[in-house]
Amino acid sequence: MQNNHDLFQKAQKHIPGGVNSPVRAFKGVGGDPVFFREGKGAWLTDATGKKYVDYIGSWGPMIVGHAHQEVLDAVKEAVNHGLGFGAPTEIETTMADLVCEIVPSMELVRMVSSGTEATMSAIRLARGYTGRDKIVKFEGCYHGHADSLLVKAGSGALTLGVPSSAGVPASLAEHTLTLRYNDLESVKACFEEAGDQIACIIIEPVAGNMNCIPPVPGFLEGLRAICDEYGAVLIFDEVMTGFRVALGGAQAHYNVTPDLTTFGKIIGGGLPVGAFGGKREVMEHIAPLGPVYQAGTLSGNPIAMAAGLTTLKLIQQSGFHAALTSTTETLVSGLQELADKAGIPMTTNQVGGMFGLFFTEDSEVNFYEQVVACDQERFKHFFHLMLDNGVYLAPSAFEAGFVSAAHGQQEIEHTLSAAKTAFAAL
Ligand code: PMP
Repeated sequence: MQNNHDLFQKAQKHIPGGVNSPVRAFKGVGGDPVFFREGKGAWLTDATGKKYVDYIGSWGPMIVGHAHQEVLDAVKEAVNHGLGFGAPTEIETTMADLVCEIVPSMELVRMVSSGTEATMSAIRLARGYTGRDKIVKFEGCYHGHADSLLVKAGSGALTLGVPSSAGVPASLAEHTLTLRYNDLESVKACFEEAGDQIACIIIEPVAGNMNCIPPVPGFLEGLRAICDEYGAVLIFDEVMTGFRVALGGAQAHYNVTPDLTTFGKIIGGGLPVGAFGGKREVMEHIAPLGPVYQAGTLSGNPIAMAAGLTTLKLIQQSGFHAALTSTTETLVSGLQELADKAGIPMTTNQVGGMFGLFFTEDSEVNFYEQVVACDQERFKHFFHLMLDNGVYLAPSAFEAGFVSAAHGQQEIEHTLSAAKTAFAAL
């Protein structure tokens, strides 16, 4: 049996950094990444057979738990009919109808294969619709790795200290205006200066790529009003929050309606799916209806649709999100209590099934500067202690944690017991 270290060494021979997505390399916390061989419910098993309670959930999709029987059955059934045709299938219509039913701001929706494709396409559409070039985003938010969006980005780009990636032309980056999350005044000032050139505001309505930062009251409402005043498109990037913080996403939770929304993660139930959609008037500018080009060989793939559709049906069941929120609350309040008892300064944020832990003296964390100022060394230490004790947290202080419906009392107890040991050792 090979251990994680050996597997990681071998992986680096032909894979850059040994991983197919940077944050997996454990650069933010040090040490060898864990290689998994299996997931079931809330648990993952690594290559050596060690088990972990999982708070990453494949970075969000696994909201019903790993290898949920109904999702597996739906995928197996779909596979029996062929892997894909690059032509319309009925399940794509069923999926579009369901997404538009769950999220009323969606009048038309286009399927893609990743969150990156969804945000990239939504930005192009906003530019094509308004005839303007500039876009507004917020520091610490991550919207995938399209060129225009890799300016002061969060997630792996933040962990690795590459807020603006090499390879992004300065002439393109100059059209991306990056403002301070939760600071409405900075947005007002920006629009007063350049409002007639701004195509859109794109935002994570709960920021999950700089740990977990909810919007302060009035912030999302203020963005809506500014977009209305200046004729800019408001895009909620709900790749992470969609179907998670509430069935209808952050827009339902906070009751603010965007013009366009992007989805990823849960909408594919663990297979590669993203989507973007929204107001009919805007979406009608997409090809073949309109002049904004967007396409995909694998878009709407029937196997991926089967996994996503089944997941969405499972989370539609009444009480699903209330239970998920309650489990997450139990976890987060338990961790806070243990940290307090151990005399470790820590603050938490939580919205629905998503949470963040901050090693800081601040009693509230609302801003990017506060996240960056948290005790990174303490986080690394905590992360490894939890990992040793069978709890798999995101290997970065800048990623939100995710709970699934498969997390129950046993998993919470296991986690709190590991945390008690970890806090005592910090
Ligand atoms: N937007 C947000 C809010 C995300 O969290 C992510 C990925 N974590 C993306 C976009 C990009 O999605 P993908 O990795 O599927 O391209």
